[in-house]
Formats: sequence, structure tokens, C-alpha cells
Amino acid sequence: MAEVKSTCCYCGVGCGVIIETTPSINGNLEVTGVRGDPDHPANFGRLCSKGSTLHLTANPSLQKQARLGLPAIRNARGEAPIDCTWPQAIKTVAKKFADIINEHGPESVGIYVSGQLLTEDYYVFNKLMKGLIGSNNIDTNSRLCMSSAVAGYKQTLGMDAPPCCYEDIDSASTIFITGSNTAFAHPILYRRLEDARKKNPDLKVIVVDPRKTDTAKEADLYLQIQPGTDVALYHGMLYIMLWEKWIDESYIKSYTEGFDALRDLVRDFTPKAVSEICGIKEKDLFQAAQWFARSPATLSMYCQGLNQSASGTAKNAALVNLHLATGQIGKAGAGPFSLTGQPNAMGGREVGGLANLLSAHRDLANPEHRAEVASLWGVHSVPEKPGLSAIPMFEALRTGSLKAIWIVCTNPAQSMPDLNAVHEGLSKAEFVVVQEAYAHTATTLYADVLLPATTWAEKVGTVTNSERRISKVNAAIDPYESAKHDWRIALEIGHALEALLSGNRIEGVSTLFPYSGPEDIWNEHRESTRGRDLDITGLSYQILEDRGPQQWPMPKGSYFGKKRLYENGVFPTKDKKAHFIAAPYKATAESVDARYPFALNTGRLRDQWHGMSRTGTVGTLYAHSPEPCVELSPKDAGRMNLENGDLVHVTSRRGSEIFPVKVSEDIASSQAFIAMHWGSEFISGAAGKTPSRGVNGLTCNLIDPVSGQPELKHSAVKILPA
Ligand code: SF4
Repeated sequence: MAEVKSTCCYCGVGCGVIIETTPSINGNLEVTGVRGDPDHPANFGRLCSKGSTLHLTANPSLQKQARLGLPAIRNARGEAPIDCTWPQAIKTVAKKFADIINEHGPESVGIYVSGQLLTEDYYVFNKLMKGLIGSNNIDTNSRLCMSSAVAGYKQTLGMDAPPCCYEDIDSASTIFITGSNTAFAHPILYRRLEDARKKNPDLKVIVVDPRKTDTAKEADLYLQIQPGTDVALYHGMLYIMLWEKWIDESYIKSYTEGFDALRDLVRDFTPKAVSEICGIKEKDLFQAAQWFARSPATLSMYCQGLNQSASGTAKNAALVNLHLATGQIGKAGAGPFSLTGQPNAMGGREVGGLANLLSAHRDLANPEHRAEVASLWGVHSVPEKPGLSAIPMFEALRTGSLKAIWIVCTNPAQSMPDLNAVHEGLSKAEFVVVQEAYAHTATTLYADVLLPATTWAEKVGTVTNSERRISKVNAAIDPYESAKHDWRIALEIGHALEALLSGNRIEGVSTLFPYSGPEDIWNEHRESTRGRDLDITGLSYQILEDRGPQQWPMPKGSYFGKKRLYENGVFPTKDKKAHFIAAPYKATAESVDARYPFALNTGRLRDQWHGMSRTGTVGTLYAHSPEPCVELSPKDAGRMNLENGDLVHVTSRRGSEIFPVKVSEDIASSQAFIAMHWGSEFISGAAGKTPSRGVNGLTCNLIDPVSGQPELKHSAVKILPA
């Protein structure tokens, strides 16, 4: 048996794993086990139910059913794809992209990537689109996940960087969990919180969530707010802090700007008004404000409940305001800690893999930044105009302004909101390329060309977790059949495109993709960070192997990365101060009314991941939640004479689906919850004229105006017996 250290490929906790392999009868290595890496600082040997069954997803007989092994070309939509060689596939993709670009311009094509990709993969795709093709039309499924957290951090603290670290959980005296079911979505961090409570019985845990989740059930104080009222809650807490003189005047004066405008704004958020807006008791609001402000160290942990909202940036900023107003930042156990959803949403942003970013946290709008990137890449220029972010990208397919899309390592035909519109866009697209490890996703059905990619246990590279910690990902087995690494596919198509497109390369640069392996790519990325907020010029693949995962920044000369940011009160803004944002409170983008009276919320199950391409192949992971359902309160179920298992039509303004009912005390009246994972293959009996899409056939695609993140957490629906 052999062992290889790597990283779990599921969530942003970024746990270290040890992959065990054994030679099979034909001599190839097979993954036969996985266990937590005791030396990894994210998990110290622990794994959750998903991580500890990773080896089962690499089972060879299962791979045969689930994986994409050969490249294939589909002659017409609806027909079966025909296997082809790699050179045929590469040539077809490059020629079609070049033809479309030459006829309609660089903005007529797009690339849609994933927070599941490694940093090296992300880097090459970003360079291919922005450096070679000459458009910023590259976006990622992280847009659905973290973009409001990014915008919130940038508005208030000046850069896209969680200032905290996991150790802060151990030293906090109040933990404020808001918009996060941490027990399910970040289980190993939640174990750490449980340990901290055992060691410190005085530790207070406050949970804010419209749904009484497993995390909420363990709270010392649970605030069951009405959906979308988070900003009003935080402003109401600040009102009480001001009234009770619990704010830190000295911190505000020394290290921040903009408090006067915020103080004026929160005057209207009296305890009575906030109690009515949020549907909570005034005494609970008071208690939350007191514990937050008076605690020696308060740590907030938050995730999609804040981000997946048409007011996501305002929610993030209003929460950071509380930390700045009370000085609960830049010290052990304190700070606003955004928990990353995907394993490498952070790494993707570090290399600028979004439609509005450039490498190493540079801004597209800044001409100096564009010139720096152009010089690093050896190209004449990087385009200024922001590209299409996720929701507009699929809308542009529908309207025809985007002709071709290359989808990598993600399943938008299941994960995007308002799926009927997304499917229409994919149907109308002139050319769809799907680069995937898994054969049978909702998106592969639309592929004109299928490119088989390697996946966990086969890839080498790096990922960055929620606490800015870069970990190495290592291969334990050979690629499945003829699958190639994602960066390698981008490089080969890039080389083919270089021969077909008129050049943006400056003279003397023979290729934009001079890489023989992932370390070459990472070294180029490292150089791009020199002098930037995320400077990692003191880090190398070898150091990651020798000293283990490291947090950025880690500039040249440092032995370790930086645990915590802003301890000196200096922020990366022009005036070096943190900025309060007087964020207005806005109700949810789509309101409930007499026709659509239920507020539909979506979220994660404990044992499934995203669209279940991987976790759905492991039988034991169905034990916790075996089938899709819509959760309703006992009051609503009783009123409609519904019992567990009864079928109902759930209908929004965009679609209709049939689900069995689960009556749950965790749901407030007039609200409903459906887990996000189940796709059409699990939901039988589509309602009305549209085919079944899963819950995203119902969800709302209205977006936050700053972050572009859609309001996946709230849609107005009606529910009627089927
Ligand atoms: Fe993997 Fe996240 Fe579970 Fe850790 S907590 S084992 S990273 S799924």
C-alpha cells in the first residue's frame, strides 16, 4: 500500500487527506482508502462524512459508470456523442472558437469555470481569455457562492481577504453565526467550535437563520429572523450598541472612516422597528447586541445566507460595520470571517478568474493594473471592459449575443437559478464545449464537444481555503482512461488558438502558455503577486511539501504565512482606514404576495455536495436524507391537510415542480425549504408543461447590483396539493 498527502475536494474548510492506494490485479494503482491528515492545520486528522468517503468515489467499477473517458463530438444536439481523438477534439474546439471570434469579435465567446478547479487551472483559463482571446468573458460558479463576500470585504476593509483564521474559533468568547448552517456546510469547523465550547463553557454562540438548522438548535441565542432581513438586524444591533455606549469610540476614531453617515442611518432602526421587521423579540435583539459588543473577542462566521441575495453586498458590509464599530477585528478570536463554499473559490479569485478581476487581486478598471498584467503575460493589452458575469453570460446565450461557451468543471444546467432560461440559452448556443470529469450531468447533454478531465486523486496543484491557507493537491493515481488535466486542455487549445487568431502577443514571446507542468504555472502566478496584498513570493511548491500548507500573504523572506490581518489597524485602502458603509436595508428582491405566498429557501444537506456528480455515487451518503422533499411547517401542512410524503406542486413565476412534503418544526409558517442538490434525475413527475429541473427550476435570478450574485435564498412560491 502507498500513501499520498492531498486535500479534500469538497468544501472551503480545505481539510488535509491521506490517500491510500493499492496495486490492482493489472498493476495499476487504485484508491483503496482515505483518512484525515493529522498534520494539516485545517482538520488535524478529522474528516466529515463526505471527506471520509472520498475513496469510494474513486472505485474503479463506479468510475466506469460515472466518468467521461474519451473526448467526443456530437454531430447534432439530441444525438449521441461520438468518441474521437484528442487532436480531433482540440482542433474542433479551437477552429470553431476562432471562426466565431473572427466573425463576431472576442466578446462573442465565453468561458464558465468553477471553484472546484485548482489555482493552476484557473490561471491558464484566465490568461487564455483575457490575454489571448482579448475579452473578459470568463466567470465562475463562485459568482453564485462568494461574490457578495468579496464585494463586502472590498467596500469595508479594502481587499478581498478574510482577516481571520481557524484558530480564532479557539480564542473567541462570542461566536456570531449568521446565514450559515455550519454544522452541515463546514462540518470540521463546527467540530472545532464544539471543542471550543467544551473548553470554555462561557463561550456564547448566537445563530441567526430563518430556518432552525442543526447549527441553530445548539445556539445559546437563536434569532429566527424573517427571510432577507439581515441588514435591519445588524443596524438594529448597532442602534442598541450606540444607545448603551458599547461602541469602541477610540477604534472608530483611529482606524475608520464614514461612521457619521452610518450613525445617521441606523437612527431609524429602533428595537421596536427591528423586532417587527425581523420577527424577533426585542430582548433577544438586545442580548445579541450585548454579547457581540461586550465580549472580549467576537468572531462572526457567515456564508450563503448573506451572499446569495440581491442585497448580499449590503448584508456583508452591514455585518463588517458591527466589527469595526466595536473594535472586534484584528485581534485573536475576533473578526468577520466569511466561510468559503467551494474548495478553491479563494484561489480562483487570487488569479483573477472572474469577469471583473485581474491576476493577484488587480482591478480591471485600473489602467496601471491592466498594464502590469499585460507586461507579465507578454501581451500588448488586457481589455478594459468587464466581461459577462454568470447570470448575464447565460442570458446572453439566450439572446444570441454570446455565440459559444466553454464550460469547465461545473454543471450550470443544474446549479444556476431560473433554469428554464438557462436551458433555453444552452439550446440556442451556436457552440457548447463541456470539459468534465463526469459523463452524465445535466450540462453534458448540451455539449457539442466533450473533453474528459481528471479529478481528485489524479491532479496536482494548489487550493486556498477559507483562512487564506494554500495547500498542495497531489495525485495518487493515473488519470482515468484518456482524461487530461484541466490546465493541460486549456494549454493545448490555447496553443491551437494562437495559430488561428491575430496576435496580441508582443514580439519575441513565442507562446503565452510555456508550461510543462503545474509548478511552472504556479511560479508565474507567484511572480504576479509580488508586492500585492496576497504576495506569496516567499512560498514554493517545495516549501508547501516541507513545511505544510501556508497562509497568504507570505512575501519573500518570511518563514510562515500571516495568521491574522489588520492587527496594526492599517487597512489596504487609499487612506489606510477601514470604511463604514451606510448600507440601506432592502426587502427581498421578489416579495411574497397573495398569489405566491410562501418564501422558498434553498440550502445544503449534510452528506451531499453541489449537484451530486460525486457524492451521488456513494450509497451510504443517502442515509441521512434519502430523497428530495419540500419542508413545510406543521401549521401550513395542517392547514392544507398534508402529511409526510404527500405530493405537492411547488410553483414560482418561473416554473413548477412536484415534491413530496416533509413536515418540519424547523420551518416557520409561510416558508418552505428544498435542498439544492437534487437534479431532474431525482425528481419525477414534472408539473405543468415544463420538464423537471429540480429546485432551480423555481429559483430567482435577480442579482445583487454590486456583486452580481443571484438571490438563490429567496423566491416566492405557491404550494398546492398534487
Ligand atoms: Fe472535506 Fe469540507 Fe468535510 Fe473537510 S469539512 S472533509 S473539506 S467536506
